[in-house]
Amino acid sequence: MKKLTRVIRNIAQHWVGDGFPVRSLFSYGGDNEFDPFLLLDYAGPHEFAPSPGKRGVDVHPHKGFETVTILYQGELAHRDSSGGKGQLGPGDVQWMTAGNGIVHEEFHSEEFTRSGGLLEMVQLWVNLRAKDKSTPAKYQDLRDAQFPRVSLPSDAGEVRVIAGDFDGTSGAASTFTYINVWDLQLTVESTAALTVPSGHTCILLVQHGNLLANGNELKAVELALFERDGIAITLQTSVASRLLVLTGEPLDEPLVGHGPFVMNTREEIRQAIRDFQSGKMGVLK
Ligand code: MN
Repeated sequence: MKKLTRVIRNIAQHWVGDGFPVRSLFSYGGDNEFDPFLLLDYAGPHEFAPSPGKRGVDVHPHKGFETVTILYQGELAHRDSSGGKGQLGPGDVQWMTAGNGIVHEEFHSEEFTRSGGLLEMVQLWVNLRAKDKSTPAKYQDLRDAQFPRVSLPSDAGEVRVIAGDFDGTSGAASTFTYINVWDLQLTVESTAALTVPSGHTCILLVQHGNLLANGNELKAVELALFERDGIAITLQTSVASRLLVLTGEPLDEPLVGHGPFVMNTREEIRQAIRDFQSGKMGVLK
């Protein structure tokens, strides 16, 4: 049975812009134990009052990785310099490959800002291999209905396959890095057995509920990191629970990051800053 290495809990909330009250369960740096994942921010659920203004994060760049926004509640609007734009509702996913460089803005939709309501989302950053960091920026606008659902045995719940593969069912997102992103809804007092690839970094974020993961108690807004060896995870819930399971093949490459730029060398970071300042990452029209 796969061993749980540690649990991250009690993370203080901070604001990203004026639209995203997040807990950063992890972010890159140190010994890179989450490789190939760079950052995981979990927002909410947070109740926003109606407002006439615009809420979110204004134009900013990214380079060298992918940003994945999984929306559970609320409505977001997005625009980027690759021409990608759209509105996301509950269950939708925005998969943005910053690659060679992109600038974008992330706001609540106008209607959601005006009406107010609950916002709940995850933003995940996935690193790219050195050879993929120069890929042209692109954007996948993925709708909830596009994601296959797999029912778990014994009415234990359902897996929404966002990326990778679950038990032979492929997720809707196309990825550069070998990862799995599974969104699990588990029923009350159920047991689910998951098989994950050995050697992968393996992370479990509990968003709602309470469960045992290989015998270790996990509650809402707690993130577990497992050893890379081993393939078996058994989940036993006490109440209905929702969790996000991430696995990824470690890139095991040098990592030099500076805010929204994650590259392999300091010179590449200096170049990224020059590219952004000189407008080479594009503009928002
Ligand atoms: Mn961003």
